[in-house]
Amino acid sequence: MMKLMAANWKMYKTRAEAVETARLFAELIAGRLPADREVLLIAPFTSLFAVADEIVSAPGVFLGAQNFYPAAQGAFTGEIAPDMLLDAGCAYALAGHSERRHILGESDEFVGKKVAFGLAAGLSMVLCVGEKIEQRKAGELRQVLTRQMEAGLSEIAPDADISTLVVAYEPVWAIGTGLTAGPLDIAEAHGIVRELLRLRYGEKANEIRILYGGSVKPDNCGEIIGIDNVDGVLVGGASLRAESFAAIALA
Ligand code: PEP
Repeated sequence: MMKLMAANWKMYKTRAEAVETARLFAELIAGRLPADREVLLIAPFTSLFAVADEIVSAPGVFLGAQNFYPAAQGAFTGEIAPDMLLDAGCAYALAGHSERRHILGESDEFVGKKVAFGLAAGLSMVLCVGEKIEQRKAGELRQVLTRQMEAGLSEIAPDADISTLVVAYEPVWAIGTGLTAGPLDIAEAHGIVRELLRLRYGEKANEIRILYGGSVKPDNCGEIIGIDNVDGVLVGGASLRAESFAAIALA
């Protein structure tokens, strides 16, 4: 399975900064990216076209969006449609990132609508799931992941190509905090996600990549990527500098 090394730039970078980061990153990994790895740059909307131009000749490097609204078009002021993202060069989009769930108030059901709509529109969808610290302490890891996965996948059409689906396990307490889940915690959570995918999709579940996210850095990425059922990483803070994200992509 191709590993996916994803950079989430969140609400950082002007267009010029995004282009400069993408250019330097592409230079740093040129000819060095292992054949079993893909890279995903998830840029802010305002930089998508410019970053697409920058990475067009970088093999194995794809563009992603952080969000969209699950409708083809319409009176949704301030929102972006999947076709607009495809037009800007995006192959991927996120849904259910914890910042959107917990700061913007997105529900499990709304996340499920986005996953289904995005896949049907031709985007590879990255469904993000993960527990808060109080849920972990209360022993609710499996329960939270089950609820988020069931709602997140519930609206996908039976004939949809789920090989383009990606799940990112991101414990909320490890995002942007410098705290990383330990190898056993990561293996346990990824095992649960794989099991939930198998219950729903049978053997096909083995084609779905499961990423880990939460304070991934150049010095812990090598270990994390080697854990069972970890098929890549989703990186926030450490992806903002081309040098550190290149070290992660090559780890
Ligand atoms: C993220 O935004 O998905 C993330 C994992 O952030 P960080 O790497 O900064 O914890």
